[in-house]
Amino acid sequence: MPDTPETFERINVRVSGVVQGVGFRPFVYRLAIEESLSGLIGNDTDGVTIELEGAPAHIQNFLARLTSETPPLARIDSVITSQLRPIGETGFRIVASEVLGRVSTGIPADAATCPDCIRELLDPHDRRYRYPFLNCTNCGPRFTITRRIPYDRPQTSMAKFPMCAECQAEYDDPLNRRFHAQPNACSRCGPHVWLETAEGAMIESADPVAETIERLLRGEVMAIKGIGGFHLSADATNSQGVSLLRQRKHRYGKPLALMVRDLETARSLCDLTIEEEALMQTAARPIVLAHARRPHNGIAPNVAPGIPWLGVFLPYAPLQHLLFADSRVKALVMTSANLSEEPIAIDNDEARTRLAAIADAFLMHDREILQRCDDSVAALVDGAPQFVRRARGYVPVAVPIPFEAAPLLAVGGHLKNVFALARGKFAYQSQHLGDLEYPIGLAFFEESLRHLMHTFEIEPRTVAHDLHPGYLSTRWAKQWASERDLRLIGVQHHHAHIAACMGEHALSGPVIGLSLDGTGYGTDGRIWGGEVLICNLDRFERFAHLDSVPMPGGDAAVREPWRMAFSHLLAAGFSEDEAGELAGATQHERRVITRMIEREINAPLTSSLGRLFDAAAAVILKRRKVDYDAQAAIELEGIAVDSSSELDIPAEYHVEFHSADWNKRESSRIGVAPLWRAIVGDIVEGVSHPEIAARFHAAVAKAFIQAACSALAATGIRQVVLSGGCMHNRRLASLLRSGLEAQGLQVFQHRSVSPGDGGLSYGQAVVAAAILYSENTL
Ligand SMILES: [Zn+2]
Ligand SMILES: [Zn+2]
Repeated sequence: MPDTPETFERINVRVSGVVQGVGFRPFVYRLAIEESLSGLIGNDTDGVTIELEGAPAHIQNFLARLTSETPPLARIDSVITSQLRPIGETGFRIVASEVLGRVSTGIPADAATCPDCIRELLDPHDRRYRYPFLNCTNCGPRFTITRRIPYDRPQTSMAKFPMCAECQAEYDDPLNRRFHAQPNACSRCGPHVWLETAEGAMIESADPVAETIERLLRGEVMAIKGIGGFHLSADATNSQGVSLLRQRKHRYGKPLALMVRDLETARSLCDLTIEEEALMQTAARPIVLAHARRPHNGIAPNVAPGIPWLGVFLPYAPLQHLLFADSRVKALVMTSANLSEEPIAIDNDEARTRLAAIADAFLMHDREILQRCDDSVAALVDGAPQFVRRARGYVPVAVPIPFEAAPLLAVGGHLKNVFALARGKFAYQSQHLGDLEYPIGLAFFEESLRHLMHTFEIEPRTVAHDLHPGYLSTRWAKQWASERDLRLIGVQHHHAHIAACMGEHALSGPVIGLSLDGTGYGTDGRIWGGEVLICNLDRFERFAHLDSVPMPGGDAAVREPWRMAFSHLLAAGFSEDEAGELAGATQHERRVITRMIEREINAPLTSSLGRLFDAAAAVILKRRKVDYDAQAAIELEGIAVDSSSELDIPAEYHVEFHSADWNKRESSRIGVAPLWRAIVGDIVEGVSHPEIAARFHAAVAKAFIQAACSALAATGIRQVVLSGGCMHNRRLASLLRSGLEAQGLQVFQHRSVSPGDGGLSYGQAVVAAAILYSENTL
């Protein structure tokens, strides 16, 4: 006997998580119809509200399927149900969005074109055949086209394209894949592409995409407008095109990202692990740094000179799929359209001005990009993804913080800046903003801040910043806070790094934090970076650190690693002549630098591990100068790849651990003089460079494992947190993890934010929230 209305139940279901703008309502609608349930669904300020009426068994089925059949881009964080009185409703309705009170649901991140849309794109019988802007509720741009929430078409840059009748019908049909797909469009009603010369003249062409392909294959450099900004593109199999792009962009050594036609092509270029393949195929489509096969299978050698990795990614926009639909196109250099570390260009006029000297022609379109967003970059570290750059596909997805926070802003660092806004139990990191030292970088910072504050309706009452008085972000924070009478909280750089990783893993501390980094301002005014800290979220102590050495010339020593090599070798007891010879310094340079160090002129002391890596690379690889950040260290890791990665190395490779009295809160020091004698001894004996590089990595790992064990003995703490820019070094990270675990310690690494300065603002937000929390609960 069928259920009678008397046995029917009615319940209220509140779902929170990423459930707006991801096809969630049509999914629920279909599910309700299939389970013969009546009721309604609507977006609310925390997610969606559903009311269901029908047979209890069908309601149970519905709830089970809600979580097991969730649409690809959605993520359910919680489902809360409560009983209601049945009202005898028939049919299921989708009700209008309620915009009540504070908004806490986010805009989804941009998502790669889905398989259904790709099929339509390439189907000559489909009405969207070769239409470069097709999308559906399972794919397409989101964050980059949104002005503010709620995420609805009038709030996006699609507002100026009224839908044609056919598109509107899809948009209105709850059973259609394009139901409420905000960027829905077709060639009749949506955006379109065209070609321009570098001088801004229209290039007449029946098929601008086909013409773009011809030009790329001829070796031209093309500016192509994408999802989060313009790309500069060249045929990656054509070394002349690639070198043209390099010359014009003034980017000589830094590896270029490679977009490849499909996974097969990626496999032919790189030794991909299963995890790397999975990461490449996620909706975020990050650039994945993978081990390159040699030889480069037709890829021009100047794409990634000097290192054994390639940054590869798959097409994620319909326009890119059209470029690769031509079988002659195998791999394209796709690099952010900018000079050096300036922000990526997004606006058509801005691109015409800024890129005129770089691109031969422009493939333009008329869908406005409202948020600049570079491609994200990630690498597999110990089998799990870790961010080098967190941007398109991930922003503005919230990262939880361990404490409920009043609205706050954390401004981040100086280079590779990312800021974070926090409220409640979530932090929202901005996209990668680049270096603030350029005026245009600061403008991008302010533009993004305004946008995210507006989007999430967060009005900060506290501003967290780095302690470095010279950082533009610090100076900006102080000015901004004083104009608004806001609370300022300064957070030490390496504490912020460790707190970021603690926040991700919801650790309250105390932990042993290995903050292994390039440069950060210490509480003693010196430059830190090889730090063993005992960390709580709201405070830290310095247990041990690398012995400080002078950094002759300050920032010049970062660009010219031979200076650090010379300084380290002098500190290790080598004579001026020996040190100069090994560091590759001229007689004149030796005299100048020695004088700088003796007289303490522009030679600040640093305990940085990043600088030690630079120095080692300068001596082992004879790398005197670098073209990009951490180049020397990356090359040193690269050359070590071919050697076994074991901690079992010759006894000469050791450090001097100068133990201090921790009961008096004195910091221990790690002296590296013996390490230098070992390296030089190996060079003299003709040991191979890969072998020396591998021994150096292992020796550094052993030194910090020893320091962590000493911290364990002094404090009893068994949790070790790894952070700082040096954690991008996969060899070091993996040696540290295995070595620490072998000592019975529990190791935590970054997964949601970058271990480098891109993760700093999230760490600052965590520390500030913890400080505010402890003050309020005292
Ligand atoms: Zn789609
Ligand atoms: Zn249309």
